[in-house]
Formats: sequence, C-alpha cells, structure tokens
Amino acid sequence: MVKLNGDHLKLAIQKDGRLTEDTRNLLRTVGLQFDAYKQRLFSNCRNFPMDILFVRDDDIPEYVAEGVVDLGIVGRNLMVEAEKNVQELMPLNYGQCTLMVAVPADSGISDVKQLAGCKVATSYPNSTQRFFAERDIPVNVIPISGSVEITPALGVAAAIVDLVSTGSSLKLNDLVAIDTVLESQSIIIANPNSLSNTHKSSIIERLLTRFRGVLSAAEYKYVMMNVPSHELDYVSNLMPGLKSPTVLPTADPEWMAVHTAIREDVFWEAIEELKRRGAQGILVSSIEKMFV
Ligand code: ATP
Ligand code: ZN
Repeated sequence: MVKLNGDHLKLAIQKDGRLTEDTRNLLRTVGLQFDAYKQRLFSNCRNFPMDILFVRDDDIPEYVAEGVVDLGIVGRNLMVEAEKNVQELMPLNYGQCTLMVAVPADSGISDVKQLAGCKVATSYPNSTQRFFAERDIPVNVIPISGSVEITPALGVAAAIVDLVSTGSSLKLNDLVAIDTVLESQSIIIANPNSLSNTHKSSIIERLLTRFRGVLSAAEYKYVMMNVPSHELDYVSNLMPGLKSPTVLPTADPEWMAVHTAIREDVFWEAIEELKRRGAQGILVSSIEKMFV
C-alpha cells in the first residue's frame, strides 16, 4: 500500500488542469519517478525522498501555508490571491498568463480611472481590491466563481479582472484589456518552516538545483562551428558562452573549431553575425540539462 512517509518532503501539484501536464513533465525531466493515475491522491517518488499530492490548484497555497505540504507548484496568480504566508522559490517558465482589467470594446473606457464608482466582476477579488485601492480608484468588486467574461454583457459589471493568455476569450466576448494587474506563470512555493528545517531544506535545495539545471538548459543552445582563424578574437568576444568558448584546432590552420552555448533570446542575431564573419558548418543542438 502507498503511504505518506513522515521523513519525506511533500509537494502538492494540480491534479487535473492547465498546469498538470507541464508540471509532471518537469518533475520527470529532473529524474523523479512516480505514478500518476487519475484516481490517485498521492504518490511516492521511487528515487527521491518526496511524496507528491494531487489536488485542486486553489487549495495549494493554503496547504503550503498550513504545512499540510512543504512545497507546492501553482500559478503565481493563485499565490498572490490567497494572501497566505508562503515563499516563492522559483518561477518555472510555463503556465504564462496575465491577470488583466478588461472592458467592453464599445464602452469608450480606455483608462482604469474611468472605472471609479463602477462594478468590477472577478474570480480574483483580493488582487482586484488591492489593484484599485493602490490607485485610489473606488470600485465595487463583485466576486464571481466562473465565466467572468460574460458578466459585462449581462449587465452585472462594467469591467472584469480575469486571466488572459492568448486574448481569444476576451475577443470572443467583445472585450478589450486596458490594464495589467499581475504577470503570472507557474512557480514553486514553500512553507517558511520547511525552509528553516535543516533536513527538509537540504532536500528542497537538491530539488531546486535540478530545476535550475533544466530551466537554464532551455535558455541556451549549444553551437559548434568552424571559424576563420583571423576572426577568432572577434567571434570569441561576440559570444563568450558560459565562460569562454572552447576553441580547437582543425587540420587546416586557416580554420578553428569553436564550441559554445548561446542564449536563446540572442540566438538568431548571433547566427547572422557569425555568418557575416565567415563562420561555416554551424551545428546547433538543444541542451538537455545545464549546471553552471
Ligand atoms: P482546478 O480544477 O485545479 O481548480 P482550474 O480550472 O481552477 O483547476 P485551470 O484552468 O486548470 O484551473 O488553470 C490553472 C492555472 O493555469 C491558472 O491558475 C493559471 O495560473 C494558469 N493559466 C495559464 N493560462 C491560463 C488561462 N488562459 N486561463 C486560466 N488560467 C491560465
Ligand atoms: Zn482552480
């Protein structure tokens, strides 16, 4: 029988929703072996001192704050909304979305100041309350649990505060976003007591090191190329890589082989510049894990 182990760290993740697949993939990519059947409420990792609980995402900040679990993976939007005593440890680079203020496209409203005295419907009442209070705009926040986008058309509210990723749901309901309440993505959060417990914090640090290895790897490409020897200094300065590039002689003294890691965000510009400098035989590969 599967049992929770008192010595093990406990991690809560979303059981079935938008974050579930990416979260499981991340955990598996960092080498954790566990079962995740639909009916299952928790699972022991076979090769790491941690148990995973599968729960509704809304409950995760509370479970972490109360110490039911040590760690949770959840959207930042829910952590901020819950206003609980938990610590954000690391953004995980998936589940990106934005909590936005939106109004009917034909409302003539383009600034949140124009919403003074209006009703604002949302599933994020705390975040919404704070957003308007910080700007000294008095609004009447109407908490709604689902289908917030429909409320302006029903005459329930003049504006909404809702999560947007592609914006297609807003468009479908003739709404336009006019301001940003919060940029969100999936994050890992911890109970502060677990962080100050020596045994638990050392396991948490092991887990975070693995996460960093996977997340940094996704930011870089590994590039191998041949560079004309007289361009070597220029090319080395162009892309110092993680320290300095690895330079190897080739059979032809006119050419050197250069290996380096290039950040994804400057990758295409770097490749264009390398081509201009005469680099040839440029091979690019993904990096699975990276520890710097
Ligand atoms: P649960 O059944 O676990 O309560 P849910 O229906 O409340 O799930 P999901 O819709 O699965 O929640 O969303 C989980 C998280 O995914 C959100 O809290 C948010 O961080 C993120 N997310 C990313 N894009 C979007 C989006 N377009 N709309 C809603 N959430 C999004
Ligand atoms: Zn939920």
